[in-house]
Amino acid sequence: MPNSSAATSADGSSSAERLFLYEIIGLRQTGEATSYPIRRSGSVFVTVSYGCMGEFMRRVSRLGARIVSIRPASPLTKGNPPALASASPADPVPAATAVEETVKPSGKKGKEKSADVPVNIYRPNKPFLGKCISTEELVREGGEGTVRHLTFDISGGELRYLEGQSIGIIPAGTDEKGKPHKLRLYSIASTRHGDHLDDKTVSLCVRRLEYKHPETGERVFGVCSTYLCALQPGDEVQITGPVGKEMLLPQDPEATVVMMATGTGIAPFRAFLWRMFKEKNPDYQFKGLAWLFFGVAYTPNILYHQELEALREQFPDQLRVTYAISREQKNPKGGKMYIQDRIAEHADELWGLVQKPNTHTYICGLKGMEGGIDEGMSGAAGKFGVNWSEYQKTLKKEERWHVETY
Ligand SMILES: Cc1cc2nc3c(=O)[nH]c(=O)nc-3n(C[C@H](O)[C@H](O)[C@H](O)COP(=O)(O)OP(=O)(O)OC[C@H]3O[C@@H](n4cnc5c(N)ncnc54)[C@H](O)[C@@H]3O)c2cc1C
Repeated sequence: MPNSSAATSADGSSSAERLFLYEIIGLRQTGEATSYPIRRSGSVFVTVSYGCMGEFMRRVSRLGARIVSIRPASPLTKGNPPALASASPADPVPAATAVEETVKPSGKKGKEKSADVPVNIYRPNKPFLGKCISTEELVREGGEGTVRHLTFDISGGELRYLEGQSIGIIPAGTDEKGKPHKLRLYSIASTRHGDHLDDKTVSLCVRRLEYKHPETGERVFGVCSTYLCALQPGDEVQITGPVGKEMLLPQDPEATVVMMATGTGIAPFRAFLWRMFKEKNPDYQFKGLAWLFFGVAYTPNILYHQELEALREQFPDQLRVTYAISREQKNPKGGKMYIQDRIAEHADELWGLVQKPNTHTYICGLKGMEGGIDEGMSGAAGKFGVNWSEYQKTLKKEERWHVETY
């Protein structure tokens, strides 16, 4: 299981040493907190180490101030500006340093504020050179094909990303015309903190494309996926991005998050589930319900199977996992069990959930999987006299129906 128990970073620092940037309003220039420079906007930015967060938050609350946002701060690696003022030793707020004022972005309700979403930090004409630090086969014996979990070191650059985004990979070498290869996009399978929780890595879940040429019958391998699946630790790789705002998690920790994946479509949902259940993020403590529908061909093709089962066992009240194993299970009509059959099986319940204003549904994986899902939802909505395609438009407008298929 790739990095499943990582709680310590590659350089040996623990999560307790991670830094977070707090934006606070309502601190008065008098009284106990006078060592902070209060900005014209009324916001104060304070960097706090992970181990001091509890005490810091109690302190802010006692002062009658309000925390507006908390985000990871990594002063040396992420190019944060130097400290403007330090908390005095006498100041009772622990391990805190006022550092910066940023422009507060406006954003759509419930989603990451769009100005906080990093995009195109690295472009194809000047990609970031990452390094492969691990590669692991995810398909177990008896399964079909090759899918690898790859982790790249991205320290030493500006690359950062959010759960649900993708990065571009430019394969080494040239195409048949002697030109550099074009980039391919891959969904990020790790959280913004990376598998080592040190903000220094990004992980992907890549299936090696392999098919029979329709005319010649020759076995063909995809350029980029084959390149990625053959990478060895130490190899350099050209990375662009990040891109994508379609698959971002809602900020609401009480949300219901329904995820429907086929194959490598699990990648963004692995990132979601890690953020929800594995990381103890003070700025996001998930209290809602997560329901994953996952379609694969065979049991050994259930990617991250052990991780998923461990989470399901640990959070039985908050996480549901429903598999559709097409070559092993049968649908009620005796045919292969596809994800849409599972959707149809649970359609009434899903219909109940999607009507809740804080339910977000995400679909990721093979192109064409939406058709079956729509069919299942249509059936359920139809029972209540609702036209699904009209209702789905409303969900999309409310940014509660998210699709990324390829
Ligand atoms: C937003 C996004 C996210 C993605 N995330 C992931 C991910 O997480 N994991 C992942 O593995 N992939 C992901 N992909 C797909 C990925 O970008 C590549 O398309 C994939 O890896 C294939 O690239 P390649 O260079 O290996 O294949 P290429 O060399 O580019 O070959 C692909 C071409 O082969 C042909 N082809 C493919 N299959 C057949 C067939 N059966 N019969 C005949 N011709 C065929 C088609 O012309 C196709 O365009 C994602 C794509 C997008 C757009």
